[in-house]
Amino acid sequence: MRYLPLAFDLKNRPCLIVGGGSIATRKARLLKKAEACLMVVAPDITDELHQLVLASGGEYIVGRYHADLLKCVDLVVAATADATVNKQVSVDARALRLPVNVVDSPDLCTFTFPSIVERGPLAVGISSGGSAPVLARMLRAQIETLLSPGLGMVAELAGRMRGKVKAALPEAQRKDFWHWVFNGPIVGQVERGHGADAEQTLLKELQRWQETPAPGGEVYLVGGGPGDPDLLTFRALRLMQQADVVLYDRLVSDEVLELVRRDAERIYVGKKKQFHSVPQDDINQLLVDLAKEGKKVLRLKGGDPFVFGRGGEEIDKLAEAQIPFQVVPGITAAIGCSAYSGIPLTHRDYAQSVRFITGHLKQGTLVLPWQELVTPNQTVVFYMGLTGLATISEQLIAHGMAADTPAALVEKGTTREQRVITGTIATLPGLAEEHKVEAPALTIVGGVVNLREKLGWFN
Ligand code: SAH
Repeated sequence: MRYLPLAFDLKNRPCLIVGGGSIATRKARLLKKAEACLMVVAPDITDELHQLVLASGGEYIVGRYHADLLKCVDLVVAATADATVNKQVSVDARALRLPVNVVDSPDLCTFTFPSIVERGPLAVGISSGGSAPVLARMLRAQIETLLSPGLGMVAELAGRMRGKVKAALPEAQRKDFWHWVFNGPIVGQVERGHGADAEQTLLKELQRWQETPAPGGEVYLVGGGPGDPDLLTFRALRLMQQADVVLYDRLVSDEVLELVRRDAERIYVGKKKQFHSVPQDDINQLLVDLAKEGKKVLRLKGGDPFVFGRGGEEIDKLAEAQIPFQVVPGITAAIGCSAYSGIPLTHRDYAQSVRFITGHLKQGTLVLPWQELVTPNQTVVFYMGLTGLATISEQLIAHGMAADTPAALVEKGTTREQRVITGTIATLPGLAEEHKVEAPALTIVGGVVNLREKLGWFN
């Protein structure tokens, strides 16, 4: 490690920037965030830089750089387009033992700016010592996804509560308590903009810890999307990496499951057609029991938890048992399959509305509002409709849908094994048999299916 990362307190300290262009402006933004007082010397200056200087209580000195300017500043940045001037600034600053940064010239610097991930008072700096700035930026992007946007506010809350917690708990428990604060429901509350509730939760929990010190559990009901792990949300990924135990479905792809914390306990609660490996009531109860043991429980579902996912029933039980929970939306199968098969669900010329409906057979029959489904200019997406496909086809035609209405089956959508089979509402059941289509598969019915020829070439 050639460069030691330090956290520099620049509040109200005068810092000189030599240069007034876009690079100088970028550095000024950073220094302004650290509440430095900005001095800029340059013949010309961008509007933004001028604003930053004024807002920081500093000064814009119109003209050329001269060494006298270094006498009353704590730090110098040279960001001009003139290599000779930049070099002179470096020589002069080093003679005075002032920290100096010359943009894009590591040899002339005594310090460099790391790539920064910022969450309020929290700052993560990544430095490659100038050897691989692109790598540092890539790492920054990865860290960005891991730190929730609300973390800064949580850190501020922690700052405000530090004294109270210190007074309430002995040292041995304090660490565990803060661990609970930074991993538990408070982060979610702050993220959803419920800062006051978060403070209340913290105080209530603090009181509970004074009586019986133990962390409370929590449930994350997370949509894992239709298969491709790239379709997870940042929040889903973060919570997946925090979980102690995961309950997952058959629909959650292996690639998505791979991203759950390695040492989390895994419980398969998947359902197969006509075969419920774990009845829904037992799943609901298991979630409550595990959370009561103080665990962070991840309930990972295919697609979106609230689209044919029984997520509502699960959180109903949690609310009843007063277990804190968070719900994270996922990309539902219809949306994922649409994009990955080149079939837009709406289109100005073909469909002004779209309907998601379950084609799941109950005791071998399908009771659906068929008349509404044959409405023109509407796309209908059937979930769980593979076994009932022949019935769906017959009923749509019997209720007046043209037999040559375009229709598609998307099997294992968004995964590497995705297959798309197109035909008409009359031919699709035969095609499904011929191609041995397997679950999970989705049926899309409507004029938009024809657009695949034009838009689906890339799949
Ligand atoms: N909550 C899920 C849906 C659960 S119902 C979601 O929002 O996507 C299960 C049905 O979803 C399956 O029978 C199938 O019709 C559909 N489905 C789920 N994943 C799919 C995929 N990768 N490709 C095609 N259909 C899928």
